[in-house]
Amino acid sequence: MPTFKIALLEGDGIGPEVVSSAVKVLKRVGELSGIDFVFEKALIGGSAIDERGTPLPQETIDLCLSSDAVLLGAVGGPKWDNLPTEKRPEKGLLGIRKALDLYANLRPAKVYEPLIASSPLKEDVARGTDFIVVRELTGDVYYGEPRGIFVQEGKRVGINTMKYTEDEIRRVVRKAFEIARLRRKKLTSVDKSNVLEVSGLWKEIVEEESKNYPDVQLEHLYVDNCAMQIVRRPSSFDVIVTGNIFGDILSDEAAVITGSLGMLPSASLGDKYALYEPVHGSAPDIAGRGVANPIATILSASMMLRYSFGFEREAKVIEKAIEVVLERGYRTPDIYTEGLIKVGTEGMTEAIIKAVEELWEKRL
Ligand code: NAD
Repeated sequence: MPTFKIALLEGDGIGPEVVSSAVKVLKRVGELSGIDFVFEKALIGGSAIDERGTPLPQETIDLCLSSDAVLLGAVGGPKWDNLPTEKRPEKGLLGIRKALDLYANLRPAKVYEPLIASSPLKEDVARGTDFIVVRELTGDVYYGEPRGIFVQEGKRVGINTMKYTEDEIRRVVRKAFEIARLRRKKLTSVDKSNVLEVSGLWKEIVEEESKNYPDVQLEHLYVDNCAMQIVRRPSSFDVIVTGNIFGDILSDEAAVITGSLGMLPSASLGDKYALYEPVHGSAPDIAGRGVANPIATILSASMMLRYSFGFEREAKVIEKAIEVVLERGYRTPDIYTEGLIKVGTEGMTEAIIKAVEELWEKRL
């Protein structure tokens, strides 16, 4: 029986509740398909500050480095809001991404038909939307040097440097082509090569790499145009790849058209390690009440099955089960509308597991 070790960093607020749901689903999928998932927990964020005095203890990094993948809940909360920046829970997140050398951030944007009314777009525009933004995570204007506020000729000047090396571009672009191959085989590369030299290099590398992926259809869009097309024709995209700052903005735009924060998973991939987490935060306003929507975290677990372990069928079964449960009318309070079946975290998890079992039986 294949064995995979998964590090669980539950974090704060609703983190432990939603991670526990994803673990239940993974365990059931493991039983059905003969895969042994071994789970081990470590502290991160506010709970790590309380117990160890730091948001990212060394033993947490060590556990992640010795695991096959990492599943994270969320960090933060009002209790730790007044700590100095270096000591805040969010430092744990940045620290673990760096320690694992994660350079590609994947954010799927999928509009589920039963939730289509929550999209701010017109239904006929939103319908069928199902794409992934692949954002480079470690370079670009956020990290380039020189940076700072300087005084030149008696006036203050703010400077940041947009910079990418050929290798930084190539590795994320390759990941995006690989992901497109697992999907509908269409890649949109987004840049601003009409004005920026960095983008010119980006485009050149994408063209070079596309020769290795002749089965993937490639298009180039300028970032301003892409921002418009995401709201005009979202269902035409499959995989979008772009740099750090453009990806930061476009992935939030993509998220908002799906309509619900509790439904959005994410993955951060490197060459050796990978971390999966919901897009939402620790939701302190609902923590401990058993009402958090676990779907974003369960979908993050299904991304883990696909991208870390190559279990495509298992990943699809979980995704399909979520669609089935939504079609049956099950809703946590954040996505509830009148007349449907209101359930809490447990109820939603159980309904998803039941649907997984049915779909497995039908050999989906
Ligand atoms: P949030 O995502 O935690 O919550 C925003 C709103 O969405 C809240 O009303 C919350 O109840 C709701 N919500 C979020 N996830 C939900 C879910 N799964 N089910 C049902 N409702 C859900 O964002 P915030 O309130 O701005 O931040 C709260 C804390 O989380 C802060 O400390 C912030 O720094 C932290 N945060 C952490 C991460 C992370 O760990 N990746 C991301 C964003 C925010």
